[in-house]
Amino acid sequence: HIGAQTVDRRVDSVCPFCGVGCQITYNVKDEIIVSVEGRDGPANHGRLCVKGRFGFDYAHHPQRLTRPLIRKPGVPKDPALLSHQGDWRDAFREATWEEALDFAAGKLKDLRTCHGDKALAGFGSAKGSNEEAYLFQKLVRTGFGSNNVDHCTRLCHASSVAALLEGVGSGAVSNQVNDVEHAELILVIGSNPTANHPVAATWMKNAAKRGTKIVLADPRVTDLGRHAWRTLQFRPDTDVALLNAMIHTVIEEGLVDQEFVTQRASNFEALKQNIQGYSAEAMAPICGIPAETIREVARAFATSKASMILWGMGISQHVHGTDNARCLIALTSVTGQIGKPGSGLHPLRGQNNVQGASDAGLIPMMYPNYQLVSNPQAHAWFEAFWQTRLDNKPGYTVVEILHKCLAPDSDPHKIRGMYVEGENPAMSDPDLNHARQALCALEHLVVQDIFMTETAWLADVVLPASAWPEKTGTVTNTDRMVQLGRRALNPPGDARPDLWIIQQMAARMGLNWHYPGPEQGVAAVYEEMRQTMAEAIGGITWERLEREGSVTYPCLTPQDPGQPIVFADRFPTADGRVKLVPADIIPASERPDAEFPQVLITGRQLEHWHTGSMTRRSAVLGAIEPMPTASMNSAELRKLGVQPGEPITVRSRRGSVVLTARRDDGTPDGAVFIPFAYYEAAANLLTNPALDPFGKIPEFKYCAVAVSAGGTL
Ligand code: SF4
Repeated sequence: HIGAQTVDRRVDSVCPFCGVGCQITYNVKDEIIVSVEGRDGPANHGRLCVKGRFGFDYAHHPQRLTRPLIRKPGVPKDPALLSHQGDWRDAFREATWEEALDFAAGKLKDLRTCHGDKALAGFGSAKGSNEEAYLFQKLVRTGFGSNNVDHCTRLCHASSVAALLEGVGSGAVSNQVNDVEHAELILVIGSNPTANHPVAATWMKNAAKRGTKIVLADPRVTDLGRHAWRTLQFRPDTDVALLNAMIHTVIEEGLVDQEFVTQRASNFEALKQNIQGYSAEAMAPICGIPAETIREVARAFATSKASMILWGMGISQHVHGTDNARCLIALTSVTGQIGKPGSGLHPLRGQNNVQGASDAGLIPMMYPNYQLVSNPQAHAWFEAFWQTRLDNKPGYTVVEILHKCLAPDSDPHKIRGMYVEGENPAMSDPDLNHARQALCALEHLVVQDIFMTETAWLADVVLPASAWPEKTGTVTNTDRMVQLGRRALNPPGDARPDLWIIQQMAARMGLNWHYPGPEQGVAAVYEEMRQTMAEAIGGITWERLEREGSVTYPCLTPQDPGQPIVFADRFPTADGRVKLVPADIIPASERPDAEFPQVLITGRQLEHWHTGSMTRRSAVLGAIEPMPTASMNSAELRKLGVQPGEPITVRSRRGSVVLTARRDDGTPDGAVFIPFAYYEAAANLLTNPALDPFGKIPEFKYCAVAVSAGGTL
């Protein structure tokens, strides 16, 4: 340990490892981050989890990319030879920035010239700053000529956002996490916050200590269950059955907040009509929760002074993810549990800037601030603002783009060239064999990243970018807090800030942008973005962020303190009311059968973040969780004849992986849980690419697999 007094400098920033947005201070000595401390930020009050405290040595890892790389002529793109299985020097040669950028952008430009505006697509990143997300989507829209731009929100909360925009008119949270201290009851559903949002979970645990009732509803019983008043381990894929049964109870037992429903909700009669077949008694055998327990929890939720719902990917990553979220909106609305302290809706955002990247327009159907590209007024406004012609048709989403890479040559929408900035679809997308084939089929793939990720390994050009501690920029956390991250280090070698690289690509695509040099450039991009998002961040100037470090939106004027709780008087919908949308049971796309009798649930674990490219290069995090594991309960392991620590093989219709068995009695019968951070046994080789029709999110939380003992690790 090196004490604060012995370091060269201390730099305040924000943790980049999850949407909680803990404020940190880097302690830097000899250009190395030697330790990290939690600051008294509004989201963390000094607290940090293991990733925030010990996860930053990835920035100094010897495998950092330090030179632009160009694929050697004749070296095939072979998914079987991903980065961990070979030396990238066999496939790539080093290049100057000039040569690499000319080749990267020049070939994209040629493809557009030859094949039209729909031939290109871009994946931006929720791990970078708002400014990067804003400029990246602007580059695709104005330089590539289409709205084929998306990012990993499509893989996490797209269905939640679809339901929220439809229901309450805003995709963001209504209340901040630490508002749970004002709740009498919190329903945590489809979320494992102690692993995925650890500091947020501390607010929940503290509330429980003070008497708040936690209801944990999840097919997996996770650590928060130790603090729960009731734990509802419902069967995987039965969210709508459980939630409709709760709404049915509320209506049948006369617990509806009539005043709220009359004055502030629409479509109640349709909801009431639809819910008739969903009594607790009828749904109990489906979801596996006793009817009396469903009724007890529904009563408690409806009658508490303040009830709040927090949810995660367990709700959203289903083909019925939007319906799941619609049920949550209906439950909170019929009970009037929204628009006041300690009550409301909180979809816990996963990546550090997935809220901000979506706000900034890094999605194919919306410009910044959720303005529909198909809305003539919004379209005209952005054409005038960016002074260029824009496509008014929504672009393709993440999984659709990969499908379009494999379209026949005759398809005018075939994607032939892509620019991927800071994402790793060769690990994060469903049905990886297909996704990797799609990336290999591209005529030109440009990848901008800090490591030779699985996606970079399939690229034609690799542009070495900056790690989070090497750049300045804003991020927006799950609570709608816009926060300032500050540069503490210089990038290694010839690596460059992402914002600089995007601008260089734009210049070579023929765009005439003029932003000032590095640090001022970030502020200039932020100020431009602020003009496009006046109803959200109009009052949050760059100077204010430098001064205050964190401001919550909506914030309309420089004097506005921001609004931690929204929807107090009206919803930002056309009629000012919340729209109640009925939902029926839609089964998972792929149910277990004789050949594939078990259910696969994928997710994250505390120590590793997403595809693991950063956290698996952290010594402490890697030491705690060094290898891919598959969790099953004791009974399931006994059935297999497997002891914890022994190898098991998990197969689906799409692929097969071998992992180490782990005992976890919170995993339900007939199911196996696999984290998706491990390239050695990539969980997404198994997953099903079936999409929710509204949010276009894949069904990562449910597919049929067969588990057997043995296999070569
Ligand atoms: Fe970082 Fe999230 Fe942990 Fe906070 S809770 S330290 S933001 S990973």
